[in-house]
Amino acid sequence: MICYKQEHLIKMVEEAKVLTKKGKVAKYIPALGEADPSTLAVAIYTGEQDCMYAGNIDEVFTLQSISKVLTLALALMDRGSDYVFQRVGMEPTGDPFNSISKLETSIPSKPLNPMINAGALAVTDMLVGNTLKDKLERVLNFIRKLTGNKNISYNPVVAQSEFETADLNRSLCYFMRQHGIIESNIEQLIDLYTKHCAIEMNCNDLAKLGYVIGNEGRGPNANENIIPLEVARIVKTFMVTCGMYNASGEFAINVGIPSKSGVSGGILGSVPHGVGIGIYGPALDDKGNSIGGLRLLELLSKQYNLSIF
Ligand code: GLU
Repeated sequence: MICYKQEHLIKMVEEAKVLTKKGKVAKYIPALGEADPSTLAVAIYTGEQDCMYAGNIDEVFTLQSISKVLTLALALMDRGSDYVFQRVGMEPTGDPFNSISKLETSIPSKPLNPMINAGALAVTDMLVGNTLKDKLERVLNFIRKLTGNKNISYNPVVAQSEFETADLNRSLCYFMRQHGIIESNIEQLIDLYTKHCAIEMNCNDLAKLGYVIGNEGRGPNANENIIPLEVARIVKTFMVTCGMYNASGEFAINVGIPSKSGVSGGILGSVPHGVGIGIYGPALDDKGNSIGGLRLLELLSKQYNLSIF
């Protein structure tokens, strides 16, 4: 059993924080542009009572693309993998997360994977529920269960800010509707998508969520299977192959922890068999990953030998 030490975490945050000066906060969603780029925090959860943490741990942030892992898990639980993978592929891409180009050239025209925007929008379209409100509530309840935090909700200001500026995502949806991949009313789909991207939490919540995915879908109380084993296996695999945008290969080599990042600067890490990692550092590198967060994960992986490879 690895013994994580808070003094290590504090040192790692100090070392990685230097890099935050070199990154930039995302501005294409205007509300995200207000984050303080020097913020950096990390939490680790091993299923014990409390997380171990260091840095600006009280900061809450929106999940953005990290929510794609959770909506995928829910869609797989709702619909089964045959249904999901008829509409979304399983292959990584070297293109940016919001690219439309492969939709045009792939035959049949379906998104390459559920971690890019096109794929995540198609997955959001598969969520079960009578109304948009029902569907959002189901996503929220699922995340409340995974984190053990009943107060998890979404940030309406960030959701609205993205909704008003999401024309690229709208164009992905129109393209996919033309090709029969999605069926919904597009404004409603963008509304649901921007709200689940704006679900908010701190690093402790994120680490707890990462723990369940790493722990084959079981919560800290071992009897409780929150995600079926097979679904946890699928989402963890996508985290490895596609979780860190078009830097996923380099990340697998340097860090080797199944992870998913978001443009808010959050990174979710799930070490198989039960270590969850939550990171927040809104200064991003040119691929959209938290620059301080990447360094932190490299340091963590080396210090505690966490690479799965
Ligand atoms: N809501 C964001 C978007 O669709 C998520 C992007 C991300 O975090 O990668 O642009």
